Amino acid sequence: MKIFVDTHAHTVASTHAYSTVHDYFQQAKLKGLHMFGITDHAPAMPDAPHFWHFGNMKVIPRIVNGVAMLRGIEANILPENPGTICCHSGLRDLDIPPNLEPFLDYAIASFHEAVFPPSDDVQRNTQAMIRAIVSGKCQIVGHPGNPRYPIDCEEVVRAAKDNNVLIEINNSSFQMSRVGSEPFCLRLMETVDRLDWKVVFASDSHIATTIGDVSHCIEKAESIGFPIERVVTATAGGFLRFLAEHDKDVSVELADWLDYLETRKYV
Ligand SMILES: [Zn+2]
Ligand SMILES: [Zn+2]
Repeated sequence: MKIFVDTHAHTVASTHAYSTVHDYFQQAKLKGLHMFGITDHAPAMPDAPHFWHFGNMKVIPRIVNGVAMLRGIEANILPENPGTICCHSGLRDLDIPPNLEPFLDYAIASFHEAVFPPSDDVQRNTQAMIRAIVSGKCQIVGHPGNPRYPIDCEEVVRAAKDNNVLIEINNSSFQMSRVGSEPFCLRLMETVDRLDWKVVFASDSHIATTIGDVSHCIEKAESIGFPIERVVTATAGGFLRFLAEHDKDVSVELADWLDYLETRKYV
């Protein structure tokens, strides 16, 4: 199993990450990755970049040294009553200011402790995640296997499928982040396979040296016979076709580059 796209990476724009866009392009090239997305934290996180960061990603070239970059955001799933947590009042599902959406290729929706206090209330967590999924503002749910936010896998995967939102299997969750995620990630993969849905495998890099590293996701997937056909990020063409279904037609800008990949049988 080989995965050529990584949809989850943080740059120095989120202060607990340590690499620049330039570092990511360089490392992605070295590792033979075709495409990656930067997904810094949305405004409700304490160390999120100023929202201008997202609006100005258009200055970053689409392709550097043959590697393509997508412009993403990791949004926060908001509690029922966000109160003063979110600097943009009136938001009830995700903290993506409406004026930013046209500048983004995609959004990941995740639970983060600084924004949504962890709770064992499965129903509450499930409903909050589904609120984000049905909002139409996100394309991926981030690290949903986090044991600090237990969810009803079946309900979440059904809602994700109904709304064309992908389930992220997060490589960091098998390492030092979100300890205890493994059984939940395996259950999510089994549920996705049974309900005929799709995932992304992502590194959640906070430093460029780990970009594209989804080795734990691959190992776990192979151990349970999870088919690569369900991993939308296996190829750049696959993920770009998915984004087009969300009216995010980045593939138009990347058409020549995709043609080149096609000649090498990579799409
Ligand atoms: Zn996250
Ligand atoms: Zn992240």
